[in-house]
Amino acid sequence: MSLYTGIIEKYRDRLPVTADTPVISLNEGNTPLIELRNLPRLIKKKVRIFGKFEGLNPTGSFKDRGMTMAVTKAVEAGAKAIICASTGNTSAAAAAYAARAGIACFVLIPEGKIALGKLSQAMMHGSVVIQIRGNFDDGMRLVQELAKTTPVNIVNSINPYRLQGQKTIAFEIIEALGDAPDYHALPVGNAGNISAHWTGYSEAVCESTRACGFCSGKCSYHKSKMATQRPIMLGYQASGAAPILRGRPVENPETVATAIRIGNPVSWQLAVAAQQESGGWFDECTDQEILHVQKLLAQTEGIFCEPASAISLAGVLKDLELGKIGEGSTIVCTLTGHGLKDPDTAIAQSTKPVTVDAEHGAIERVIREYLPEG
Ligand SMILES: *Cc1c(COP(=O)(O)O)cnc(C)c1O
Repeated sequence: MSLYTGIIEKYRDRLPVTADTPVISLNEGNTPLIELRNLPRLIKKKVRIFGKFEGLNPTGSFKDRGMTMAVTKAVEAGAKAIICASTGNTSAAAAAYAARAGIACFVLIPEGKIALGKLSQAMMHGSVVIQIRGNFDDGMRLVQELAKTTPVNIVNSINPYRLQGQKTIAFEIIEALGDAPDYHALPVGNAGNISAHWTGYSEAVCESTRACGFCSGKCSYHKSKMATQRPIMLGYQASGAAPILRGRPVENPETVATAIRIGNPVSWQLAVAAQQESGGWFDECTDQEILHVQKLLAQTEGIFCEPASAISLAGVLKDLELGKIGEGSTIVCTLTGHGLKDPDTAIAQSTKPVTVDAEHGAIERVIREYLPEG
């Protein structure tokens, strides 16, 4: 029997763990890479677009890849408590992995600005949820101060183990496609994930015998490189929360995509390095564009991602239209989180249910009204 038991076991040669490290896992990773078959036809472009559906991780977002590493290393170091600032998904993941590890978890969230599903997760897993009258950036600053005065271990993406875990997404994509794609698009909030993707892709093309510093060149990947190329990285920010596009922090970030409602990203420099080294670019999408593509993806491909995730595809569709991405390209979009996380936003933009009497004729009239023609 060979059960899949999560990213640390699968990629232990490429991660900073030893045989004695107590692995805290919920079997995260191994998410499907789904080819979008209807959209290229709809937009009349000869391209292959894939969605890496990270919404199918144990707590419904890619944060689980980072959290398994961060909590594993915290436990290894003897930590009894972790803390994070969160727009929602980090708190959900931290709460779940802390529960699994049997340690305490404190989460700081912006009052009233987190999606309902994410809040329910943090509460249900038994973390101490602290709502602050401030935004994510305030929470991020406070968490760093609190880690100096209390015995809590930060599990935000300034914790380098988070990015180590998250880099494994690149390995999975290469394994699925047989090589790296030409383009890789993703949302940029605190900017850790784009940096982690780039680290993963970079290690995958490395043949050096002492590349990553963790395995001393002994791992199988270093003997045979996994990929022949690295993708061009495309990072998209919401127009109301686009500090990298503006070239300065945004004081009061606003967007319906609450997961990327961040005005001063912690990994700003790393993200710019990934963009520059890959020859990629940053761009922005409006809330209207984000919601339109979230719905388009749900209704043409059957994939329900959260608003922040949809920006990766929204940006790609725009750049295909503009000719910035050429025909013949293979493109991967990271669909970072599940649409069920944010039911309010989904319901607000969908057709309301039709209410009729529990009667054959009434329902048949509705069916005839909505049947496709012909
Ligand atoms: C955290 C998150 C992001 C942003 O990732 P960063 O690493 O902060 O840039 C995007 N989408 C979802 C669903 C997230 O949870």
